[in-house]
Amino acid sequence: MHKNFKGIDKTVFGRGSFDQLGQILEPRRNANDHFMVFIIDNYFKGKDLVKRLPKQAEDVVRFIDVDPHEPTTDQIDELRDTILKENGLPAGVIGIGGGSIMDIAKAAALMFTNEGSSQLYQGLNLIKIPGIYHVGVPTISGTGAECSMTAVLTGPVKKLGLKCEWTIFDQVVLDPELIASVPNDKWFYTGMDTYIHCIESMHGILNNAYSMAYGEQALKLCRDIYLGDQAGQTAENDDKLMVASLMGGLSLTYSEVGVCHALSYGLSKILGEKHCYANCLAFQHLGDYYPEGVAEFNRMMKKHNVVLPQGLSASWSDQVITDMAEVAIKLEHMWNHAIGTDWKTRITINTIKELFKRF
Ligand code: NAD
Ligand code: ZN
Repeated sequence: MHKNFKGIDKTVFGRGSFDQLGQILEPRRNANDHFMVFIIDNYFKGKDLVKRLPKQAEDVVRFIDVDPHEPTTDQIDELRDTILKENGLPAGVIGIGGGSIMDIAKAAALMFTNEGSSQLYQGLNLIKIPGIYHVGVPTISGTGAECSMTAVLTGPVKKLGLKCEWTIFDQVVLDPELIASVPNDKWFYTGMDTYIHCIESMHGILNNAYSMAYGEQALKLCRDIYLGDQAGQTAENDDKLMVASLMGGLSLTYSEVGVCHALSYGLSKILGEKHCYANCLAFQHLGDYYPEGVAEFNRMMKKHNVVLPQGLSASWSDQVITDMAEVAIKLEHMWNHAIGTDWKTRITINTIKELFKRF
């Protein structure tokens, strides 16, 4: 079966496009109990952006600190239950932030109309009823969460997305001015998520002309941003990075990620490393799987004076390495794409443990 996916309904791109948000929301305000919920990264508390929020008296604004942990099912349930009890059913949810905030907004939009805990819906097509209108406004670019059909949540049992067609944003606002304040290290790691999405998407059996076209263009943009004569955090490169993130996300949606993301999930699940940083930790050691990609990644690190820790595995017990390898090997679709349909004859739990020992 070929992939047949829904896309984002509407996308606005451009410097200052954030100021169109009020106009965008206006025709949606009559739905349900006639108010909007703004979910905003805590970083913006007290900043100018909050003054520009098209907030009306009845709207709810929630600031969330995404640094202590990645989004959890409890967090979504609490958010939904409190707002339903105190304010009613919103007309829409707007997530303003990075992958974490956008995932919270996507998950909340679905859970406003689906009963019980969000834990019940972690997986593919488990959501029963379409969610409410939801808008994504990225403020850090790279993960592709703005265009993906999943909202990744950590629950008591599993870390897995609420994945279905209704997860996809109805509207995305891409305003490159919003990513200007991203600190240099996060700019690098998060942008590298896009770079790795492209390399992995394009190197595997599910690659095709459609995913390749997005991947090639996103790679070209990454090369300008991180290696070109004008490399660095400039306004022009912020424009490019926002587009690269979206295109890298579309590339992997129509193909698949590979070895690096499989290992990175293990690192995130067992050791709590953040997605983009975990990818960088893994990718540097995968020269035998992605020789040109890793060589180029190393050049990008050098150009931006990024130094990743070495010798990490020396402090990991065999149990920790086994646990991470067990998480990684379960991501069969990634191994299938990266290695081939006979991957089980070439990749065993021990192969993966050896990969982790390179860290
Ligand atoms: P994030 O949302 O976790 O934010 C990273 C950091 O950047 C935070 O400290 C945040 O406060 C800060 N930040 C955000 N915007 C800023 C700005 N403009 N200026 C200064 N600081 C800013 O970052 P992320 O890497 O985009 O997202 C990671 C999350 O995304 C993880 O929870 C991961 O599971 C999820 N994810 C989701 C998908 C998906 O398809 N849904 C894909 C990959 C990762
Ligand atoms: Zn990724």
